[in-house]
Amino acid sequence: MLYRSTRGRFEPVSASQAIKLGIAPDGGLFVPADSVTIENPERLVNSTYQERAQAVLQPFLTGFSDDEVRECVHSAYNATRFDTPAIAPLHKLAPGLHLLELWHGPTCAFKDMALQILPHLLKKSTEKTEEDAEIVILVATSGDTGKAALEGFRDVLGTRIIVFYPEQGVSEIQKRQMVTQEGNNVSVIAVRGNFDDAQSGVKAIFTDDTVKADLANRGFKFSSANSINWGRLVPQIAYYFSAYLDLRRDGEIGPREAINFVVPTGNFGNILAGFYARRMGLPIGRLICAANRNNVLTDFIRTGVYDRNRAFVRTLSPSMDILISSNLERLLFELTGHDNRAAIWMEQLRKTGRYAVDTETVRAVTDLFWSDFADDTETINTIRTTYRESGYPMDTHTAVGRAVYDKYRSATGDATKTVVVSTASPFKFNESVSKALLDKETVAGRSEFELLEILSGLTGWIIPPGLRDLDKKPIRHDRVVDREGMQDAVLQTLRK
Ligand SMILES: *Cc1c(COP(=O)(O)O)cnc(C)c1O
Repeated sequence: MLYRSTRGRFEPVSASQAIKLGIAPDGGLFVPADSVTIENPERLVNSTYQERAQAVLQPFLTGFSDDEVRECVHSAYNATRFDTPAIAPLHKLAPGLHLLELWHGPTCAFKDMALQILPHLLKKSTEKTEEDAEIVILVATSGDTGKAALEGFRDVLGTRIIVFYPEQGVSEIQKRQMVTQEGNNVSVIAVRGNFDDAQSGVKAIFTDDTVKADLANRGFKFSSANSINWGRLVPQIAYYFSAYLDLRRDGEIGPREAINFVVPTGNFGNILAGFYARRMGLPIGRLICAANRNNVLTDFIRTGVYDRNRAFVRTLSPSMDILISSNLERLLFELTGHDNRAAIWMEQLRKTGRYAVDTETVRAVTDLFWSDFADDTETINTIRTTYRESGYPMDTHTAVGRAVYDKYRSATGDATKTVVVSTASPFKFNESVSKALLDKETVAGRSEFELLEILSGLTGWIIPPGLRDLDKKPIRHDRVVDREGMQDAVLQTLRK
């Protein structure tokens, strides 16, 4: 299996090269050149998550032996990293409605599903491409990704990771998660400024030829851990299969009975993995894209017009506050039969912030996808009513998914059995969840650490190990730099 760039101006490469490069040098994203199908998924009904993941990953990772894929899968999805042997368990909320909990990893959000295995795939990829340099991962984070990447890459031989976060732009818990990070190859640096400052600083370092040459001399090379890397997308396909197989195993659905998925969406990475699962033969009816007030994708799925020229809104589901959904480029490239239309639209997006796809593509999109959004009030109300009805505390991102599921049911009457993808633990966004479930006086003036305890007392759920006692752990990273000082900070960190 080779990988092609969505911009069509770079020769197809192997899986290991696609993973090592991250983004294609012509600015495009790598996608599989051919389609992949899974023979008789039913044979995996009684398999473990690891066995299912192996079966899904193997055909995409040409050049990796069975043993190598198995090693990667077991290094990522095991009892030291995940707090349940099921790895990605289903929770039945109501007849025909299940939640797929993707937050049992070390950082309590779904990014662990990919970032726990990416470092292992990347390490094997550098070996296969006979890369001698040590790989340096640079990340700018607004919260979740940085911590998940740190946990994934910590102490992985042959790699270093440097994370920049905006000094004032992350929650207290997110900050503590990062500045207490352990590991011998990790650095965490605060930037005076906002997330855009950190992000533009990282981009500038990535593309600076003098820095690259300097680092190459010292035996280092940059790579990327963000969601444009195919190595982050492909592990996500596995949990769509796993959810279906669990429903089959538990007798919730019949053989080859189609199910719908609702996916809280930001960068379109998670839901795109669902699209690939469907292409591989998984019986999925509709993929329902749930957005918050930054509803650029809802508009696109309904009209075929993508327009990022709108105000950016800060919401209670911050990991979905995104106006450029990078992975949509892959979907368009797939739906247009790998021709040059996606590249043209992306050029229009770069120049004008907007593009409109043709009617044939609109039809292809609406055949598979449906979308709506939920605002903050609806999100809070959903957390509250779900807890009252089922005793289940959901986080704000998951609540957006649940709210959009209800809208889908009333709009279409479609009663297909449905899985709502749950992307974060309620403890991770405990401030909003507490406000939804408790009265004002109980919440007012409390720190996030106190709220963890209160939420745990209320729900009887135990505080996940990754969030427990964070305020008592020693601070290991206290560097703060200006936007202008980021490059020096990287060079200093990488002195050998
Ligand atoms: C990243 C994230 C999302 C959005 O996922 P995409 O792949 O960017 O669409 C949703 N919820 C949570 C909690 C996240 O961390």
